[in-house]
Amino acid sequence: MDKEFLPCHTPDIGEAEVQAVVETLRSGWLTTGPKVKQFEEEFAEYIGCRHAVAVNSGTAALHLALEAMGIREGDEVIVPTMTFAATAEVVMYLHAWPVLVDCQRDTLNLDPEQLEKVVSPKTKAIIPVHFGGHPCDMAKILEIARHHNLAVIEDAAHTLPARYAGKMIGTIGDITCFSFYATKTITTGEGGMATTENPEWAERMRVMSLHGISKDAWKRYTAAGSWYYEILSPGYKYNLTDVAAAIGIQQLKKCDRFWKQRQYYAELYRQGFSDVPEITVPPILKREGYQHAWHLYVIQLELERLCIDRREFIELLKEQRIGTSVHFIPLHLHPYYR
Ligand SMILES: *Cc1c(COP(=O)(O)O)cnc(C)c1O
Repeated sequence: MDKEFLPCHTPDIGEAEVQAVVETLRSGWLTTGPKVKQFEEEFAEYIGCRHAVAVNSGTAALHLALEAMGIREGDEVIVPTMTFAATAEVVMYLHAWPVLVDCQRDTLNLDPEQLEKVVSPKTKAIIPVHFGGHPCDMAKILEIARHHNLAVIEDAAHTLPARYAGKMIGTIGDITCFSFYATKTITTGEGGMATTENPEWAERMRVMSLHGISKDAWKRYTAAGSWYYEILSPGYKYNLTDVAAAIGIQQLKKCDRFWKQRQYYAELYRQGFSDVPEITVPPILKREGYQHAWHLYVIQLELERLCIDRREFIELLKEQRIGTSVHFIPLHLHPYYR
């Protein structure tokens, strides 16, 4: 009998999201407007941060964050090699250099010991990636950053909702960047958010997300807006649409319920694999004040105990109608970064 294919990920979209999109389409306001403002306010409240700036991707959030921190040509930014393309490419958008560092074997997070070794006089920032949803060792990273006067921009594309030492991820580093890509823990199809406590950085990101145009550029076609605008800097076209934000508002309401489901499945996997020495499972975070977002459940194959390699393992799972993915092929193994 042909079993149904189990995909690696499917978005959880309900009737509320469908209704919200229809309502927005009928409202006559499709691009950045009241829904985006509402989404930003509710996101900031959920995280407990001062400012949340919505954009059209997590990559855009990272790019704007680096720009707001003043990263420019010749600077170096430390990036873990175990990450998606976005984390390093945004550094190159600003003609700065991503300096790749290795990761811890168990959490797959940036290794603070390695981090210290690659800091140079040109280093201006660190982008820790909370891999799969497991918060990085932020105390150590912040200590190194403060000592060398480096900005900390967190790539939290996997880390909604997560907690480190009693604090929500999104309230710790200088700027934190979330993604609402279709596979992430909540989605708007495409979308992202940058959070910060600093009003100047928030304002800079807001301005640069819409052509570098002064104050509330999106309002210029409303009754409350003005025809007058000033271009302060050559900005980008990174604004989120109200259609996407309408989905985000509904998804955010379900964020905790989604997390409980993932936590439940992570526990099932842990138990299920506990007597399979060929597979190493991700470490769990059982400390008070810590929360793993469980965006990914990454297993590591103990190849010396197996008579097949990773490629065959993936193919055999596919024959069983089980979808998987490799997170990630480390950056330094890709042709460009080689
Ligand atoms: C998904 C992802 C991003 C980028 O998010 P987009 O919204 O797709 O631009 C950045 N970093 C990591 C680690 C990711 O997994």
